[in-house]
Amino acid sequence: MTSGELQGKVALVTGASRGIGKAVALKLSSLGAKLAINHIAPEKANADAVVAILAQQGGEALALEADIRNSEAVKNMVQAITDKWGTLDILVNNAGITKDTLVLRMSDEAWDDVLDINLRGAFVCTRAALRPMVRQKSGRIVSMSSISGIMGTAGQGNYSASKAGLIGFTKSVAREVGGMNITVNAIAPGFIMTDMTDRLPQERKDAILSMVSLRRFGKPEEVAELIAFLASERAGYITGQVIGIDGGM
Ligand code: NAP
Repeated sequence: MTSGELQGKVALVTGASRGIGKAVALKLSSLGAKLAINHIAPEKANADAVVAILAQQGGEALALEADIRNSEAVKNMVQAITDKWGTLDILVNNAGITKDTLVLRMSDEAWDDVLDINLRGAFVCTRAALRPMVRQKSGRIVSMSSISGIMGTAGQGNYSASKAGLIGFTKSVAREVGGMNITVNAIAPGFIMTDMTDRLPQERKDAILSMVSLRRFGKPEEVAELIAFLASERAGYITGQVIGIDGGM
C-alpha cells in the first residue's frame, strides 16, 4: 500500500490502546488517516502513548475513552470525532475480550460480558458510525471476528458465539448499506501474539501451533495490513465477506 492512500480519511478503531487495535491505528495513520483511538481503561496511559507515537510520525490522533457497550458513550464518541474532523470514514470494530471456561462451568456473567463487549459493542459502534457514513454515502466497516467463530473452540463457548454472531451481523449490515457505497466486512484471525493470547497456558499454545501450517503465530502488524486493505479504496468491491488470516489453520 502506498503512503497517503488514506489521506483525508477519518478512522475510529475501538480498543486501539493495545494489541491488534494499536497496530491497526499505526498502520492506518501511516497511510494518512486521522485516528480516533478508543479505549476503556480509565488510566489513559496506553491510549495516550499511541496518540504520542502517531503525533511523532506526523499523524493526527485523538484518544477517546468509551465503553463500547454504552450507547450514550459511543454516540458522544462519534460526535466528538465528527465535531473535530467533520466526518467518519472508517470504523474498525476491534475491541474484544475473552472469559474462557467450559460451558458446564460458565457463569451467566462470563457469557454476558463477552457477548456484550464483543457483539453488542460492535452493533452499538456500527449503528453510531453509520449515521455520518450514510450522510456522506461512503464508508468502510471492518469487524474483528475470529477463527473461533468459524470452527468453534473448546473452552470458548461465549467467545465463539460472539464471533460467529459478528459474522451474521456483518453480512446483514452489508446488505442494508451496500446501496450507499458502504462496505462491511469481517476478518477472522487465528492466533495473534497480544496480551489476550499471552496469558494462555503453554500446552494450549503448543496445541494451537501444531495446527498452523506456517508453524508460527501471527503478528498484530500482519492483521493490520489486511484491515488497511479492506479500509482502502482498492477494496471497494468487497463486502459482506469474512476473510481468514490464520497462517493456514
Ligand atoms: P487485547 O490485546 O486484549 O486488547 C483489547 C483491547 O480492547 C484493549 O485496547 C482494550 O482497552 C479494549 N477493550 C476491552 N473492552 C473494551 C470495551 N468495553 N470498550 C472499549 N474498549 C475495550 O486484544 P487483542 O488480542 O489485540 O484482540 C483485538 C481483537 O481481535 C478482539 O476483538 C479479539 O477478540 C480479536 N482476535 C484476537 C486474536 C488473537 O489471537 N489475539 C485472534 C482472533 C481475534 P484497554 O486497553 O483500555 O483495556
